[in-house]
Amino acid sequence: MVTGHFAGVIINRLALNIDRIFHYAIPEHLSGKVTVGSHVTVPFGNGNRAVDGFVLSLTSEIDFEGTVKEIASLASPEPLFDEELLAVSHFLKQKYFCSHISAIKTVLPPGSVRKNKVNDKIIRGSVLNIPYDEAFDLLDALRDKAPRQAQVLELLIQNDFVADNDITFITGASYAAIKALRDKGVIRSEEIEVFRLPVNYDDIPPSVSPKLTEEQQSAVDSVTNAKTPGTYLLHGVTGSGKTEVFLNCIERVLKTGKTAIVLVPEISLTPQMVTRFASRFGKRIAVLHSALSMGERSDEYKRIKNGEADVVVGARSAIFAPLKNIGLIVIDEEHETSYKAENAPTYHAREVAQMRAKYHGASLLLASATPSVESFYRAQCGTYRLLSLTHRPTAQSLPEVSVVDMRKEMAEGNRSCLSTQLQEGLLQNKNHGEQSILFLNRRGFSSFVSCRSCGFVIKCKNCDVSLTYHKNRGTLTCHYCGYTVRKPSACPDCGSTFIKEFGAGTQKVEEEIRELFPDLSVIRMDVDTTGAKTAHQALLSRFEEEKTDILLGTQMVAKGLDFPDVTLVGVLAADQSLNIDDFRANERAFNLITQVCGRAGRGEKPGRAVIQTYMPDNDVIHLAKNQDYLSFYRNEIEVRRLLCYPPFCDIVSILLTSPKAQGLFAYAEKIAKSVRIVMDKEYKAPYQMLGPCETAVTRIAGRFRQRIWIKCDLNDTAEHIFARLRDFHIRSKDAADISMVIENNPYGAI
Ligand code: ADP
Ligand code: ZN
Ligand code: ZN
Repeated sequence: MVTGHFAGVIINRLALNIDRIFHYAIPEHLSGKVTVGSHVTVPFGNGNRAVDGFVLSLTSEIDFEGTVKEIASLASPEPLFDEELLAVSHFLKQKYFCSHISAIKTVLPPGSVRKNKVNDKIIRGSVLNIPYDEAFDLLDALRDKAPRQAQVLELLIQNDFVADNDITFITGASYAAIKALRDKGVIRSEEIEVFRLPVNYDDIPPSVSPKLTEEQQSAVDSVTNAKTPGTYLLHGVTGSGKTEVFLNCIERVLKTGKTAIVLVPEISLTPQMVTRFASRFGKRIAVLHSALSMGERSDEYKRIKNGEADVVVGARSAIFAPLKNIGLIVIDEEHETSYKAENAPTYHAREVAQMRAKYHGASLLLASATPSVESFYRAQCGTYRLLSLTHRPTAQSLPEVSVVDMRKEMAEGNRSCLSTQLQEGLLQNKNHGEQSILFLNRRGFSSFVSCRSCGFVIKCKNCDVSLTYHKNRGTLTCHYCGYTVRKPSACPDCGSTFIKEFGAGTQKVEEEIRELFPDLSVIRMDVDTTGAKTAHQALLSRFEEEKTDILLGTQMVAKGLDFPDVTLVGVLAADQSLNIDDFRANERAFNLITQVCGRAGRGEKPGRAVIQTYMPDNDVIHLAKNQDYLSFYRNEIEVRRLLCYPPFCDIVSILLTSPKAQGLFAYAEKIAKSVRIVMDKEYKAPYQMLGPCETAVTRIAGRFRQRIWIKCDLNDTAEHIFARLRDFHIRSKDAADISMVIENNPYGAI
């Protein structure tokens, strides 16, 4: 036992074997300056290398024999998190089975521990400087000779522009590899200006709330007059005035001297939305957006920390905004799957919001036209309080929706991916000077390329999936790992030249429209056309300003857009989202179709929507057509109850991956067996275990995959069991190549 002043430090390295607290003495010159949240430099390991880390605790005595090393210096002048965000990081670690350090890094303002702070708004990057064909020949040549350069080249074949920092980060290549390619003239450097949200507060005229309808007023009263804080679910069709409700709630919360966080899906964080907040709250808002430059973002964080901004509007990660004294957290479009993080820790913003709301004694307001089945169920049970808006305050009517049977179209000789009705609609709109949106849930030119002679399908060499054809580049790309090759002219298996693409992606549809209607202008919007951060907004502005006839796109066009001249919406393949092997498939399809249809007729003119399907009798499509959320919910909740899916249980996925197939299954079986033994002994409630089994995609990025599913109630006991499993795995000697990811209620697991 030693006494004195000590700090518990977590080292800022992702290595799992050092993911624990190390104690350091606080030297005299730093006394009083080191607190919880301090970013410090410490000597580490046998060589006493200087590394940075974060202080998680302060103590006056530790169990230790020998001399305790001292903290060398402060790495950042101000602490980077407080006790509350530390508690949030513990919550992340416990609930999402991640490492200490990744939990800490998640709650930090992005970019706060970067060595050289980038303050300018210019990003330096690289673009391809030679034609694709040449690039491919060179790529083949480089793969053996200079694999790093090959990786850089491949990345730039796939993307129009990549920041130099991203190139080195993604490929692991050094700057020398970039320079070598530049010197050869293969790529050239380019600079782009980072997208700025046009929040020029002085230019936005202040606005006041319209007189609320009775329903709106009573919703606002319920949230702000409640004696005890709680979670509210605000349900109302699009345009029913939900946003107006939470603007009013925030206004009241601010009057009591408290602060508020508003989460919106990244995709709907448009200037339209931001302006609405800015005109109500002026400079009191801070906007956190992934497209802000580091400099802008750190400015926004400064304004939050010093109390200048007390309303934070942002996408998922804004839930970690360092606000004090929170009175209300709002999650708009709460059903959106983008609120669940894809990388560790795979937190759900709603769960973190619940935790922070509880800490602050704040209320949580969830809003949606199509709430997640889980949330609506909780509202039905009384866990959440349900607030409903049953009609629109404006005279705007919902669009008229029709369902077209594509099998019939086919039988009648229409081979195009646009039904006769939709084709007529597009032309009619053109004549009336109105605009249309077409939605297709698939990017690229087609889903896969196969040989008509022998049936061979061209697959990724790293993953067990077919490659997607991108016509403008003449490439086949893997949407899981990014592997890219040139489209071969002959079948790699039998040599036949009859190789053709199947199915229709956005590019193919675009081409078809141009052929059918040379007079109609089209803008295509998908991840391929919106690679650079600026592109998304730029394309939307063009659509609005140039009055383009058709906006064609993937998910990106489904949400949040509000264009008064759009009167026709087409859902090209409504079945697409239904034919996915995931228990949330119905829910997602319902949401998507309802949302897309909601894009039509936002202005004065009434809107219409055409849903194309091969399953016209499908219930989900019918209910979405009628915008009948309640019936959809009643059907869906019964299915979930029968088959035991959330909200009736939690689903835990244990994913094991390895570059070698050998030994993986045996190890997975061993893990499954031990989980069963421990669960049987300690977990006193029923549970179900499935697997280990191969995942739907058996190999991704060169790693084989086995998964174990466990349905249970993820209570403290279960959490503890899985946390121990993770520790066991990290220490396990016979699993050096195998990595384990435990995930709580994963979305769209593959
Ligand atoms: P939602 O968030 O449910 O889609 P909004 O709050 O955006 O709905 O409201 C839709 C439209 O109706 C907006 O243009 C808004 O200004 C208007 N609106 C909302 N509430 C009222 C009201 N009480 N009186 C008049 N107009 C309203
Ligand atoms: Zn063949
Ligand atoms: Zn791949």
